[in-house]
Amino acid sequence: MADQKIPQVTAKRLPLYYRYLEKLHAIGKQRVSSAALAEALQIDPATIRRDFSYLGELGKKGYGYNVNYLLQFLRDFLRQDEVTNVVLIGVGNLGTALLRYNFYRSHNTKIVAGFDIDEGKIGMDIDGVPVYSMNRLKEVLELHSVEVAILTVPVSAAQSTTDQLVNAGIRGILNFTPARLNVPSHIRIHHIDLTVELQTLIYFLKNFPTNESKGEQNG
Ligand code: ATP
Repeated sequence: MADQKIPQVTAKRLPLYYRYLEKLHAIGKQRVSSAALAEALQIDPATIRRDFSYLGELGKKGYGYNVNYLLQFLRDFLRQDEVTNVVLIGVGNLGTALLRYNFYRSHNTKIVAGFDIDEGKIGMDIDGVPVYSMNRLKEVLELHSVEVAILTVPVSAAQSTTDQLVNAGIRGILNFTPARLNVPSHIRIHHIDLTVELQTLIYFLKNFPTNESKGEQNG
């Protein structure tokens, strides 16, 4: 697969390019220069040119990039038309909010099921997403070909639920708990600790009231 050959930093930027090109396409723009992309996305133009060079010959010197062509290319590349099914473990306050958040509309990612151990929650339907018992984890993951899970259980249950997910064949976990999870090396974990993020923001506001807060707003 071509996307395995490109650097991870580039791969991470491709969805940004894609979304911006979609906007340009929507307003009828036919072409865009790397300088204009750079300006809009706050990414160095040289970085953009380098990123696109990994994808092949996409632009001509002095002409810039053809928006339609680039969009189609990135769509194929990112397989944007393919829906990725995701599950969520722990249908508490945060979990419920994420279930209600419509990832699908903009990103083709769909939470197909929630899981919990609370009998009062099992069997519920939250904005069309069913909540299952943890006993049914493996069965539901297989049914929907799910490889990614969002973890919103209390920290005390983080490792045990992670072990269950690994046993059920999950490959990636978006961890919203503050726990550091132990997983085999083939499992990928992305960690979002909202408390730490908020504290970091407050720290920067207190200690660097002008520069950093401005930078964050622009970035
Ligand atoms: P609420 O009080 O409404 O449950 P909360 O977000 O404060 O919300 P937490 O204690 O953080 O609740 O738990 C989040 C969810 O994780 C709860 O719905 C809880 O039942 C569920 N949960 C706890 N332990 C497990 C577990 N081992 N496996 C799956 N879900 C679990």
